[in-house]
Amino acid sequence: MRAFLALLFACALSAATPRTLRLDYVHSGDSKGETFALARVVEEPLPWPGDPDRAVDDSNLGKYKAEVRDASGKVIYSRGFASIFGEWQDTDEATKLQRAFEESVRFPEPGGPVTVHLLRRQPDMGWKEVWSCPVDPKAQSVERGAPPSAGALIPILKNGDPSHKVDFLILGDGYTAKERPKFIKDAKRLAATLFAYEPYKSRKADFNVWALCPVSKESGISRPSTGIHKRSALGCTYDAFGSERYILTFDTRAFRDAASQAPYDFVEILVNGRTYGGGGIHQLYGTVASDNAFSPYVFVHEFGHHIAGLADEYYTSDNYYNPTAARPEPWEPNVTADPKHPKWADLISPGTLLPTPWKKAEFEAYSLGIQKRRRAIRAANQPESVMEALFTEERAHETKLLGTDANSHRVGAFEGGNYYATGYYRSQEDCIMFTRDLSAGFCAACRKAIGGVIDQYTAH
Ligand SMILES: [Zn+2]
Repeated sequence: MRAFLALLFACALSAATPRTLRLDYVHSGDSKGETFALARVVEEPLPWPGDPDRAVDDSNLGKYKAEVRDASGKVIYSRGFASIFGEWQDTDEATKLQRAFEESVRFPEPGGPVTVHLLRRQPDMGWKEVWSCPVDPKAQSVERGAPPSAGALIPILKNGDPSHKVDFLILGDGYTAKERPKFIKDAKRLAATLFAYEPYKSRKADFNVWALCPVSKESGISRPSTGIHKRSALGCTYDAFGSERYILTFDTRAFRDAASQAPYDFVEILVNGRTYGGGGIHQLYGTVASDNAFSPYVFVHEFGHHIAGLADEYYTSDNYYNPTAARPEPWEPNVTADPKHPKWADLISPGTLLPTPWKKAEFEAYSLGIQKRRRAIRAANQPESVMEALFTEERAHETKLLGTDANSHRVGAFEGGNYYATGYYRSQEDCIMFTRDLSAGFCAACRKAIGGVIDQYTAH
């Protein structure tokens, strides 16, 4: 009888939990415009992992937003996101040629036809529709075949039903079949790092962590700037947008097909290698090289971009964006163009000056010297240990400088952030999104934003 009831309960649960449907589309254009086109609709192998009661996104994060509307026009699912195209559009290359990137919208499989709408963030922070596409879940063109195997699912942390937890998937790339035990060790090591810092530390019970590692034929990933070219399982590569430390995969289908074999809300890809690097895009994925002395920091920093759309608070290192004179208010929750009325106004320490003074000139002079040495190390293709030593030296200096300033422990509006030395402000002097110092922790604005996203996936 008990077995029968358990079976009945399992059936009721599976009937109530829809499958996951995925719309893949091509996002193309240049610096001046963009177009969209349907690529395919895929029924993924697993049930929808999100909370059915929190299907509509109220975070107001993202450069874009996807809305799924039923036949009556009601929004039944939405999610803000950022994208590779959205970043590329601000590069120099986008002023010279057109490119196309695949993107995906995943949502709970509906009972009947729906329309997927894409909206783009406007300068006034509102939204404007840029594309819509009808999706019939019963159409014969929906791809229902099993994806290429990503190997057995590895549970790392299990705290409960995926629909009420943040399901975090760690994917391996550039690991051969023989290196699978190394991947499992790397994934466990870096996942533990995340939960050592707030707000993840006190919200650990709200997470499940899973891992998958599709087999790569060769060890490591591409690094074109040094003549290394490989076809790894997920297609990750250094030198994205010409930035030596930036790791992305442009093979969206390989990435999504592998990820679909785990229940997941968020993903970080571990690429097997020592060379410093990573990347993170809101609601797409984060990436990190596994074996660098600074991998724990990169892992936590990039996951911040991915889960909560956090902006980089640093501004002295080389980046691939074209600078502009305008300083529109960014959608990212941890930077503002308005220091008198920042998004984190409710968190400001009483009696704090706005903008808040800090040792800015001293910080910049030192940091620019480090950047010069960093470029020379890469230009000479020196061993990674040389770069790690430079970063270690820099971290010790910055921790002391930023930790012993008059306003070090206040929440205010500190100028410098979002890749700009002037005109953008961050909430605290130091943060994991500012320097390579994990011990600084996340600033107040970052902690609040991450906590808000965790809430969206864990409503009880
Ligand atoms: Zn921060």
